[in-house]
Amino acid sequence: MSNTTSEPVKIAVLGCGTVGTEVVRLLTEEAQDLASRVGAAVQIAGIYVRDASKDRGPYVPDELLTEDAEALVDRSDVVVELMGGEEPARTLILRALERGSAVVTANKALLASHGPELYEAADAAGADLYYEAAVAGAIPLVRPVRESLAGDHITRILGIVNGTTNYVLDEMTVRGLDYDVALKQAQDLGFAEADPTADVGGHDAAAKAAILASLAFHQRVHIDDVYCEGIEAITATDVIAAKETGQVIKLLAIAERTDAGVSVRVHPALVPLTHPLAGVHGGFNAVFIEAQSAGELMFYGQGAGGTPTASAVLGDVVSVARHKAQGGKGPVESNYADLPVLPIGSARTRFSIRMSVIDKPGVLAKVAETFAAYGVGIEVVRQVPGQSHAGLILSTHRVPEGDLRATVAELESSDVVDGVLSVLRIEGE
Ligand code: NAP
Repeated sequence: MSNTTSEPVKIAVLGCGTVGTEVVRLLTEEAQDLASRVGAAVQIAGIYVRDASKDRGPYVPDELLTEDAEALVDRSDVVVELMGGEEPARTLILRALERGSAVVTANKALLASHGPELYEAADAAGADLYYEAAVAGAIPLVRPVRESLAGDHITRILGIVNGTTNYVLDEMTVRGLDYDVALKQAQDLGFAEADPTADVGGHDAAAKAAILASLAFHQRVHIDDVYCEGIEAITATDVIAAKETGQVIKLLAIAERTDAGVSVRVHPALVPLTHPLAGVHGGFNAVFIEAQSAGELMFYGQGAGGTPTASAVLGDVVSVARHKAQGGKGPVESNYADLPVLPIGSARTRFSIRMSVIDKPGVLAKVAETFAAYGVGIEVVRQVPGQSHAGLILSTHRVPEGDLRATVAELESSDVVDGVLSVLRIEGE
């Protein structure tokens, strides 16, 4: 038997696609348990879609569908935004917050570009704005970073936060597939969109990096602050070279605190096989956090999919509905810090450079001279013999990226270097 007050909490669901349908199903099927957890009945007030005549399957009651979003928002206590995109999501969320309604959203793109405006509107109205599902789907991450680690200092976050790119890179690594073949396979299996640009270009991960960095470092980080490089240029040869040196290539979202400021970036990186992130396979996500007192933490699970993402949305719905039923408001993110967001040129990391050089005596010394001229220390050199050109793989010490780029530019114009074939950062050491 449920222990509830008499007034139901009315929920507006905006959007009824992959995630929305599952949220509606769980809100309906789990209504009794949810009521007991919230302390009041939880009732769907309506479901906003573009086309209310479209069949939505067995879990979505037709009579709840509406094409009038404003009216639905205005008669609800909690607005669950699952449309995606900037508009009309932004306007509808602001409308809900201004009325004092709580908002739950999974919309990382909106938060990464308009987060401050939305957080301020929530603050001004004394309303909850929750977004656990916006970063890494089902994995509890926003609450742990915002609340459990609120008394610690997070120094670095390394995240595999895009399942599509992890699937593609994993297939290239485990099965030796070329990039195009692995991507096509991901599309055929429904892991990748028909237009995969947001995933393979790193933009989806960049939005999540901005949200995580804002929470971790208690300040506003906008998506435009995030340096972003995708996986399109990664070749089967890069993957083989990584394996030969005990590493694996992963697309990482990185948020790092240094003495000079914060560095927030997304790019492919070589990760040692001994690092926990190297063992994250297929479409899974994982986030590795380093904090001053807590030490190393790892969060792992399904970063996407209707049902896993709906789990995170429902968790937020229970929290905000409980606040509605019992009064009060949940904890908010703090944003008192104003550390400079550093340009990519000053990010310090190790690099692996693979190049083809002319196969004659003295070449290695000349290459080493170029590195020394820019203060880039070489840690390991591997030579791969060829017929007229030799392959060379060099790993550097930790250096500012700007110095490495200058070195590579000079190597590219050197008469002993036939070509710089790839430059990859090494992370997780
Ligand atoms: P989806 O399958 O494309 O569904 C979007 C829904 O929103 C559809 O029902 C669509 O209505 C409605 N919609 C979109 N634009 C609209 C507009 N301008 N006006 C009215 N209705 C509109 O999207 P999804 O995959 O469920 O994703 C929803 C949100 O969750 C996004 O912010 C996404 O980033 C986030 N998210 C998704 C996942 C995932 O695994 N899918 C994981 C984490 C976070 P119609 O059906 O009438 O077209």
